[in-house]
Amino acid sequence: MVEMLVERLRPFHSSVFGEISQLAVVHGAIDLGQGFPDYGGPQAMLDIARAAIADGMNQYPPSNGQPGLREAIVTEHAERVGSDYDVDTEVLVTSGATEALTAAILGLVEPSDEVVLIEPFYDSYAAAVAMVGATRRTVAMVPDGDGFTLDLDELRRAITPRTRLLVVNSPHNPTGSLLTVPDLHTIAELACARDFLVVADEVYEHLAFDPHPHVSIASLPGMRERTIVVSSAAKTFNVTGWRIGWALGPAELIEAVHAAKQYLAFVAAAPFQPAIAYALEYEREWVAASRIELQRKYQLLSSALDDLGFDVKRSAGGYFVCADIGSDGTAFCRELPARVGVAAIPVSALADRSDWNTLVRFAYCKQDATLHEAISRLKRV
Ligand code: PMP
Ligand code: GLN
Repeated sequence: MVEMLVERLRPFHSSVFGEISQLAVVHGAIDLGQGFPDYGGPQAMLDIARAAIADGMNQYPPSNGQPGLREAIVTEHAERVGSDYDVDTEVLVTSGATEALTAAILGLVEPSDEVVLIEPFYDSYAAAVAMVGATRRTVAMVPDGDGFTLDLDELRRAITPRTRLLVVNSPHNPTGSLLTVPDLHTIAELACARDFLVVADEVYEHLAFDPHPHVSIASLPGMRERTIVVSSAAKTFNVTGWRIGWALGPAELIEAVHAAKQYLAFVAAAPFQPAIAYALEYEREWVAASRIELQRKYQLLSSALDDLGFDVKRSAGGYFVCADIGSDGTAFCRELPARVGVAAIPVSALADRSDWNTLVRFAYCKQDATLHEAISRLKRV
């Protein structure tokens, strides 16, 4: 059936997350593949969504998002980052971060443009670039001790007169790397000097582990006017299925993203919007506690993998830890659910180059009991 699919989308015919989750279901495996928590978000937030449905908030909301949610997003960001986005023109509620990312690329990139991605990259960036028919260039992360860092020289070389946009993602999926403040400054200076836009995928912004806080590239000199910040309720409040995300940026960029967004999911789900507005305002302590819990879970899983002989890489935040298995990661991840009853993601599925073929990503956003059971099953590898 893939022959029916248009050529430009053929490389994307099957998302690795769907594929591996399906294998996990078929084999009754513990899913450390797709990044979703197996525990809930703040109770009061869940209650507000239930009440919103019961109260009849079930029709199309405004296409740029309910005013209360827009206000909450802008206020939370202003208090944490020091930003000053306008509630009416500089924020857009989307159907997950995925829709914001796709709409940004569809609304701002011409087919003749180039988009630079940092490899490995979240798969939807490349798919969106392919939907436009633009050219994707990648810059690889490089080993840095037991972690990864950005190769700034390669980034400089990747920028051409056709570069329209760079996507940065920190904390990073899949490696868990956090871009350092000097690296962010270098990227910002390059963006200003070479006049390209930046899409900052900050869906893990609240999950950067101590002692290094997340810094938004939009807060650096010259960057507010050329950056679209994308984030989501999914990872912050453990609601990956609610599909509430957003974009923040200068009015003229948000207008372009909105234009494309109207013809994707059109609006984001109505009853979840007041619940996320509440959570952004009143559940900040819950978020801080969640970050500390995730850091503990990261340590739990990474030290167990280390004890099992995996070559574990350092993560500075987010949901994932990677390990180099020294052999083909794709074959390993395809077999793992049937072999030992655990699912993981081959990083090669999130990259163009073969350098990533031996790296495997494990999600630690799981209950301790789930992690312990997965660890005991992995002993059979
Ligand atoms: N960006 C990154 C880096 C992600 O890991 C994910 C998956 N949560 C997304 C974007 C998509 O987020 P959402 O579920 O809100 O669409
Ligand atoms: N962001 C999550 C991950 O990286 C889920 C992605 C998805 O299922 N599309 O695992």
